[in-house]
This record gives sequence, C-alpha cells and structure tokens, in this order.
Amino acid sequence: MTAATTARGTESLSFEEVGMTFPDGTEAVRNVSLTVSKGEFVTVVGPSGCGKSTLLKIASGLLEPTAGRVVVDRDRLGYVFQDATLLPWRTVKRNVELIAELHGMSDDERDRLAEEAIQLVGLDGFQEHYPKSLSGGMRMRASLARTLTLKPPVFLFDEPFGAVDEITREHLNEETQQLFQREGFAGLFITHSIGEAVFMSTRVVVMSARPGQIVDEFDVPFPYPRDPDLRFDPEFAGLSGEVSHALRGSHS
Ligand code: ADP
Repeated sequence: MTAATTARGTESLSFEEVGMTFPDGTEAVRNVSLTVSKGEFVTVVGPSGCGKSTLLKIASGLLEPTAGRVVVDRDRLGYVFQDATLLPWRTVKRNVELIAELHGMSDDERDRLAEEAIQLVGLDGFQEHYPKSLSGGMRMRASLARTLTLKPPVFLFDEPFGAVDEITREHLNEETQQLFQREGFAGLFITHSIGEAVFMSTRVVVMSARPGQIVDEFDVPFPYPRDPDLRFDPEFAGLSGEVSHALRGSHS
C-alpha cells in the first residue's frame, strides 16, 4: 500500500523510499529517501530524464508514487515551474495576487502580500506592466513573487532559471539565496547547473541516470548571505569539481 501523506503543520518535506513506474513501464525513480527540513536548501542535480521533475510532481501531489510515500503539508506548498506561467491578460500585480485570490483572501490582505512580495523580488515600479513587456528574468521574478504570497514553509523549484541568460541567472541565484535566508523555508531546487546548485544550497544531492536514485550528497559549508564573489573562491571550485565528478559517474 502506498500513500502520499498530507501532514498538516509539517514544515519539512520527506520522501520515504519513493519509487515511480509510469503505466507504460518506464521506471523514473527508484527508492528515493530524502528529507528537507526548515532552514535547508537542497538542490538535486542529475542527468536529463533521471526523474527530478517527477520527484517534485510527487511532492506536490500531481503524481501518486507507485512505491513509498511523501510527508508534507500541501496546503501551503510553494511550487515554481520552469516556465513563469503568468497570465498574459493580467498585470504583474494581478498575477502576483492570483494565489492569494484563489485562497479567498480579502482584497486588503491580497494587496498587502502582493506588494510585499513584489518589493522582495525587486519588481517595484512594474506593478502595472503586462508580462509581454517584461524580460525573461523579470517574468521569473513575478512568478517567484506570486508563490511568495503563500509564505510557503516548503518551496519547490523546478529548474526555474534554465531559460534565462547566465548573468540574469546569477542575479536570480543571489536573490533566491537572500529570500531563503530571509524566509527560512525548506527549499528543494532542481537544476542542471552545478554552479547554481553549490552557490545557493546547504546540500547538493546527485541523482543517477534513470531510474533516478540518489548516488551522492554534499554539504555546502559557506555561510549566508553568500557574496557573488564566492564563485571565484578555491573552496567553491573544489566542491563544484567534486559534484561534477559525482555527476559524471552517475551517467554510467
Ligand atoms: P528530469 O526532470 O530529470 O529531466 P523527468 O522527471 O521529467 O526527468 O522524467 C523522468 C523519466 O520519466 C523520463 O525518462 C521521462 O521520459 C519519463 N516520464 C515522465 N513522465 C512520464 C509519463 N507520464 N509517462 C511515461 N514516462 C514518463
């Protein structure tokens, strides 16, 4: 018997021996056990198709695992997708208000939360702009802000900065680790970028090729807030090299 358990009030996310085999027989993930506690930012790196997105979909309840279970409070689960998924006919402000609106919050509360989130992601002044007039990085900021209005104790990020240029991605990484430091959520972040993983995380988890299994884990020792120049630190380069080595081994 498998079950994805919603545990009210839990401020962490646990995968317990989770496995996922799709109806067509594709085994995407096998025996994944991973806990992300409040105040931890865990990044999962792994080859394309190893089941990273599948894990997030299982965490959010979009997919039911075929083995094991997930323990998380789904009522306030933040989820940022690869695409900003903004509604083109709504302004930035109205897009950011959307989740609060769906949760039935009052106009005042919605306005307050949206304004706060817009300030946090650095979009002040763009409240009345429409998505089409924003850059890719700004759209992603708006998407982050929309999720922040939930004040999620657990925050899932499905490779959100994959489509933006490298400099914008670095800025977004710096802002995300500041948000993490400020909000103290339990973060689970999916990426292909080792630099992104090491820069933001408290822990990096390496998955094998399909069926995805956890093959290595690295604690990241650098204190927050992390300075952009950390990327040029020899210790940072050494740790990135270790992750890269584990990742190359995971392809075989
Ligand atoms: P990643 O995010 O690591 O790139 P995914 O989690 O998207 O990988 O996919 C893992 C594997 O499961 C891939 O081989 C993908 O083709 C397969 N897969 C994903 N969704 C389905 C599905 N609904 N049915 C069958 N196979 C699927």
